[in-house]
Amino acid sequence: SKHSTAKSIPLPTITLKDIGGLPEEMKDEILQTLEIVKDPERSAKVGIKAPKGILLYGPPGTGKTLLAQAIARELGANFFSASGSAFTELFVGVGASRIRGLFENARKQTPAVIFIDEVDALAGKRKQHGGEEAEKTLTELLVQLDGGHQNEGILFIAATNRKDMLDDAFLRPGRIDFTFNVPLPDTKGRKEIIDIHTKNKRLADNVIASLDTLAESTTGFSGAQISSLFEMASRKAVREGREEVGMEDLDYAIDRTILGSTSRALNDP
Ligand code: ATP
Repeated sequence: SKHSTAKSIPLPTITLKDIGGLPEEMKDEILQTLEIVKDPERSAKVGIKAPKGILLYGPPGTGKTLLAQAIARELGANFFSASGSAFTELFVGVGASRIRGLFENARKQTPAVIFIDEVDALAGKRKQHGGEEAEKTLTELLVQLDGGHQNEGILFIAATNRKDMLDDAFLRPGRIDFTFNVPLPDTKGRKEIIDIHTKNKRLADNVIASLDTLAESTTGFSGAQISSLFEMASRKAVREGREEVGMEDLDYAIDRTILGSTSRALNDP
């Protein structure tokens, strides 16, 4: 499974260079933030507090999980991850004890990053949220985030597509200190992502020649969609016995991706 709360999971070798389309200022700001996390004593001397929590928000598939992994790698930290949606519809008390377990495990293996994806499922506005169980789980998360010196060596990262849904108590400084918007990539960003995902692929010459046009014509595509384009195209090439990805493979993948997103849009109430 993508998520494991019990143990830290081995990190893929993701660095900031493997993430395309991030604004330069944002990368700089992240690196500066990590310098503070790495050397809290020096930062304390100049009156800067090390951040405890970071929120990444933006549309699905823009690389928030990748970014959390890259941050953990940059810090040399163990990576603990969970999905907010895994905490819903549990019996009363189960969600809270899982949250506690997650933090307890991380505290035994510092430096650690605790990453919670889809955090809106867990830290949604209380009024709209309702339910005794959801309330207890969120309260426990806030208690754990307020762990004080127990949380030394732990960086909490949360990701969401719905920042507007988050409870203000969760977003308070000391819990969430930095918020980064991870947007859909622009043309230049899409080209970076295309380059990342074609680096280890064999492409026909006319496909290589068309990659700039592809970047221009894929407005609205996320990094995940671009990545899946090339996966789909490669699989088709292999299925049909071609040694390199041809134009017909790429066109097929583009059609499938566009159809896929339209049918999703149509099914959305
Ligand atoms: P979600 O909100 O749906 O959880 P996410 O923002 O966390 O999505 P990821 O899980 O990081 O997105 O992205 C899924 C996959 O898509 C990545 O493993 C990677 O292959 C590709 N991808 C997404 N964004 C980028 C990007 N900016 N640069 C390179 N690859 C990307």
